Amino acid sequence: MKIKFLGAASMVTGSCYFLTGKETGLLIDYGMFQGKIEETGLNSIKPKIDFDKLTAVLLTHAHLDHCGRLPLLLRYGFRGSVFMTEATKALVELVLYDSAKLAKEEENKVILYTDEDVDKILKQVQLVEYDKPFAVGDFEITFLDAGHILGSATVLIKDKNTGKLISFSGDLGNTPEPLLSPTHWVNKADVSVVESTYGDEIHKRRDEVEELAKIVMEAESENGTVIIPSFSLQRSQEILYIFDQLKKQGKMKAETPVFLDSPMAIKATEVFREFPNLYNRKLQNQAKTDDPFDFPSLVLCDTLEKSRQIKNLVGVKIIVAGSGMMTGGRVLHHVISFLGDSKTQLVFVGYQADGTMGRQIKDGADNVNVWGNIVTVKAKIKEIKTMSSHADQVQILNWLGKMEGLSQVILTHGEELPRLVLAEKVRQEFPNVKVSLPVLDEEIEI
Ligand SMILES: [Zn+2]
Repeated sequence: MKIKFLGAASMVTGSCYFLTGKETGLLIDYGMFQGKIEETGLNSIKPKIDFDKLTAVLLTHAHLDHCGRLPLLLRYGFRGSVFMTEATKALVELVLYDSAKLAKEEENKVILYTDEDVDKILKQVQLVEYDKPFAVGDFEITFLDAGHILGSATVLIKDKNTGKLISFSGDLGNTPEPLLSPTHWVNKADVSVVESTYGDEIHKRRDEVEELAKIVMEAESENGTVIIPSFSLQRSQEILYIFDQLKKQGKMKAETPVFLDSPMAIKATEVFREFPNLYNRKLQNQAKTDDPFDFPSLVLCDTLEKSRQIKNLVGVKIIVAGSGMMTGGRVLHHVISFLGDSKTQLVFVGYQADGTMGRQIKDGADNVNVWGNIVTVKAKIKEIKTMSSHADQVQILNWLGKMEGLSQVILTHGEELPRLVLAEKVRQEFPNVKVSLPVLDEEIEI
């Protein structure tokens, strides 16, 4: 078998690997390159693989950096199946149509594909269930719950000719996690391709519920505004669930309004409600009698009009709006309205990449430019660091440690430093295991 690394090799985005056996070729993920790399136009370059051999695509989860290039496969003549879980499909629909729409709206952005292309590729989707092996050519494939976002999977592939087992981690969850079932172990594998996003970090103990309780108390006492830039998938639902708990526990006034100001997050929350079987046990129990994503004074801003009215509301309010790194979206309107007020708290709950407005503010910028409006930053800037949805170093090593027969670990999906640090740790913990750090377009024989 050979694996070619067509993305997420010494970087975190553009996840895509091509696995070839005797007759069969599988693509694992076909994600978008994001951030500065995107400017290089990597997304529109045809991958250097043998398309005649490409039999099927396996999608680990619905994040854009894993699924964002899927519609481009049509252009390259691919008419085979794209395998994914049912929840992933529901989220992928949201993500891909949104991606097609954004490209149309933004100036200077290359239009990679249209709604029609998304329609077509979705017709090629085949649903799979966790823990149920199925066959594609030379391979037997099993999806396991990765505990990262709703529907996310680790993929275990067996070469029927040689019996060799290879696991692709996908993105691994920060398990145990507030909404989802724990990450499923892979009990046996010869080779593992594993993510290394936080390969150099050990997460702090989760305390986001207490942290948000303090922030809300401060806002309630001074009639201030809380702005939370948030990603639509998973993070926004986690935030809603925290407010649900705080209101139930009386740590937040029932009448304090929370605005979910993101059509995409509203739709993603609907998808969450369709899959209570994927929640962890505690949340499943609650969901039998109560909606964990709904509470008194929650306002869903499904229209732009409702979003615009928020600025006229005097008094305490919480606004959860996209985009998560403040690179666009409705959160920017709230920056103009509220960031100049010292009673505002701007709360970061996720990673802020270099070059984004979120990062600029987090790093202490005195003012920011929103569509030509210079806004002086007087708001209090806060950060909750414990809401990561990725496994840390200890969790990754633990996950690898469950694999009987492991002889090779291939580290991907990480910046260079975290990946190097993790490589050293893997060598220490598993001295007999070969560690590989592929670069873009490198092919490794296994
Ligand atoms: Zn992900």
